[in-house]
Amino acid sequence: SILPIRSFIVLLIGCLAINLSLCFSSFPSSIKTLNVEGHFSFDNNEFAARDFGNRFRFLPSAVLHPKSVSDIATIIKHIWQKGPGSKLTVAARGHGHSLQGQAQAPQGIVINMESLSGQEMKVHTGRFPYVDVSAGELWINILHECLKFGLAPKSWTDYLHLTVGGTLSNAGISGQAFRHGPQISNVHQLEVVTGKGEVTICSEEQNADLFHGVLGGLGQFGIITRARISLEPAPKDDFSTFARDQEYLISAQNTFDYIEGLVIINKTGLINNWRSSFNLQDPVQASQFKSDGRTLFCLELTKNFNPGEADKIDQEIESLLSRLSYIPSMLFMSEASYVEFLDRVHAAEIKLRSKGLWDLPHPWLNLLVPKSKIHSFSEGVFGNILTDTNNGPVLVYPVNKSKWDNRTSSVLPEEDIFYLVAFLPQAVPLSTENDGLEHLLSLNKRILDYCEEANLGVKQYLPYYTTQVEWRAHFGQQWEVFVRRKSAYDPLAILAPGQRIFRKAI
Ligand code: FAD
Repeated sequence: SILPIRSFIVLLIGCLAINLSLCFSSFPSSIKTLNVEGHFSFDNNEFAARDFGNRFRFLPSAVLHPKSVSDIATIIKHIWQKGPGSKLTVAARGHGHSLQGQAQAPQGIVINMESLSGQEMKVHTGRFPYVDVSAGELWINILHECLKFGLAPKSWTDYLHLTVGGTLSNAGISGQAFRHGPQISNVHQLEVVTGKGEVTICSEEQNADLFHGVLGGLGQFGIITRARISLEPAPKDDFSTFARDQEYLISAQNTFDYIEGLVIINKTGLINNWRSSFNLQDPVQASQFKSDGRTLFCLELTKNFNPGEADKIDQEIESLLSRLSYIPSMLFMSEASYVEFLDRVHAAEIKLRSKGLWDLPHPWLNLLVPKSKIHSFSEGVFGNILTDTNNGPVLVYPVNKSKWDNRTSSVLPEEDIFYLVAFLPQAVPLSTENDGLEHLLSLNKRILDYCEEANLGVKQYLPYYTTQVEWRAHFGQQWEVFVRRKSAYDPLAILAPGQRIFRKAI
């Protein structure tokens, strides 16, 4: 038991010596003159001397933050050409989650692979889907990108904030390995910069020896710069199931008479029932709707029936429900008269008025989201921008565009099916910060900005814009017709100035 202790002491001394000597070591000036798109950093490189193990700490002389594969190739080629005279070493650093300094390069150059990770990820769908990624990309980002296409890598590690290059240099093992093998068994192709500075594409068919060597190769044969990773269909998440069920219901021949969905996120109180068709009086049932810490996707459905048809209707409902994926213990049914159901929000209004809550500010936001983008929308907005629905209900349900007449002035997204997503909060004055009007308005802005940045093709319903440039963008190709109609029927712009579309000439 003496040996390990002694070697530990030796290491500690070694460590100190290196750190001290660094103050005097000089970085070869020839490297500084190399033409790279990225840059070197010589100070504040502490991060490159640290890792998850937090036991070894060797500072490099410099860190390269590459912008391209050729930056990496240029540096390595330069050192290779110097021959054995140069003592300089190079370590690729992924996310630095090694345990014992594996991604460190004492007095050498650490290549910060994550600075390559901004490069585009390309998901290829089809029979054998795959994704091309930078080796500096974190697996968590790859997951999110692939899910947009309903796909995902097959094999994982337990923790996803690790880089592709880092795990492929080891193996990448987790609970899927029994079925798919480790991550290194699920790679089709790599781009590698060898220790001679050569950029090489390798796969089972091409440069197979390098391919097999690099996978699990502990970074010894080359730096992986890109990888092509095999994908499979991702299991559908709750939102996908919810969306699929709704899309099935609106397209089925024999279906419900009313189909709406709502999202309940992290709600601390009971379901906000101001617009719900049924009264959750049973406390056991009501408590199920507490969504503290979770997200519930609910469907609200009705089936109309005449007296004497109850049995037949029960059978129809049962058959329709059997096609849906819901939590059986969370199925609630109630009966209401036709008018009672249709006038349900008024019943709520009376209640809210009696408490003085009907006249609060209502920063509502209604959006029409194309079906193909509803998953990206859900991912970006529910649980990310919107972290709870305590301020009011959020409705999400699809409609068929074929039921709309395209000669009207309504503006719709460009797809046959689109979703209405309605955020219907009320701003409680002098309440906690998160209920305030300003907070709710800033959430709306973040949602709109996200839709814009992610190019989701969303249209506002009950639109609100303040400039004509925005209105033009909203109407798109319909703008000309809208303007023509305005000049035909209200040429003096007398009508509805509150829409802020046309201004009356003074
Ligand atoms: P780094 O630590 O930065 O680098 C690791 C090694 O790979 C270094 O030698 C480095 O030089 C080299 N390297 C990095 N990038 C490249 C590249 N692009 N080309 C060539 N070489 C490169 N592993 C599993 O298999 N399964 C798990 O479930 C798992 N869970 C973990 C959970 C936690 C919390 C942690 C900290 C680690 C876990 N690991 C697991 C281990 C992990 O896979 C390895 O430590 C991995 O190397 C970390 O990746 P990284 O991006 O942080 O790599």
